[in-house]
Amino acid sequence: MKPTIFKMLGMAFAMAAATSAHAQENVLNLYSSRHYQTDEQLYSNFTKKTGIKINRIEAEDNPLLERLRNEGKNSPADVILMVDAARLWRAQIEGMFQPVRSKVLDSRIPDNLRGKDDGKGAEWYGFSTRGRAIVYNKETVKPEDVPTYESLADPKNKGKVCTRSGSHPYMLSLIGSLIEHNGEAATEKWAQGMVTNFARPPRGGDTDQIKGVASGECGVALTNTYYYVRLLRSNKPEDKALISKVGFIWPNQKTTGAHMNISGGGVAKNAPNREAAVKFLEYLASDEAQGYFANGNNEWPVVKSATATNPELESLGKFKAENMSIATIGKNQIAAQRILDRVGYK
Ligand code: FE
Repeated sequence: MKPTIFKMLGMAFAMAAATSAHAQENVLNLYSSRHYQTDEQLYSNFTKKTGIKINRIEAEDNPLLERLRNEGKNSPADVILMVDAARLWRAQIEGMFQPVRSKVLDSRIPDNLRGKDDGKGAEWYGFSTRGRAIVYNKETVKPEDVPTYESLADPKNKGKVCTRSGSHPYMLSLIGSLIEHNGEAATEKWAQGMVTNFARPPRGGDTDQIKGVASGECGVALTNTYYYVRLLRSNKPEDKALISKVGFIWPNQKTTGAHMNISGGGVAKNAPNREAAVKFLEYLASDEAQGYFANGNNEWPVVKSATATNPELESLGKFKAENMSIATIGKNQIAAQRILDRVGYK
């Protein structure tokens, strides 16, 4: 996600909200780190169906969390939407969500895609999924040398590997998943191997890693699937030239499956409009909303009966996804960060 500033609309709303955080009729205050064109349709359809107007505060995840911390008990937030289990888990342990029990959500959202459920309901739900894929330079790297996350740390790939910062949630979640599959000691050895194999110190976002691969500076890199698909869908000649140099690999197909993460959300701890908030989450689990939500960022719907027409996304083909509780991945990020600190993976 690229850094953005709060939208003017959000600012105006925040000023109004500061004077009255109590419940209003037919209003929903949505705090979201998603900002995609197709989400507009998603929100307006919800309003059409329910008569509930949506006030949106859109910001990047960290500023959004900071804002929720500052607002504390007086926060007007009803629903919080975020990307990546690492962030959702952090928001959860900071007490930003409240448990929700809903027949609709329980029946439609797979239970490995939910945050802590202590019998009172789940604190957050995943509404779309993304994979963490391997991309390689077709001229300098053979795909058979980089088929798994583990293989990137192999001595034969020395000087070829690029990633974004290890401490970024996307990397923390991947490392959290590796800890679960391979154990902490093996994952530390892996992280050490990655540092040894770097083509350059970690920097930039996932798109920058794909660009590094295309330019030849990197032989192989990691990216979330939607950044790759975004480039595949681009009509710009420079993007077409760039992506033609890059090979795509679904990692760990013979072993644990590709690491999967989510975009998701839950009801805010002090939601003034709790009923509307639950209705909105239930709406996000509907077939129609699932299509918009997933397609908006080239992701996959989580609800089995939902479909999204996205030929470029489908071009990635069928693949084996890891089978793991997303909450476990969130929780493992503390151990993941410790490993990164020990091996100097910045
Ligand atoms: Fe992203």
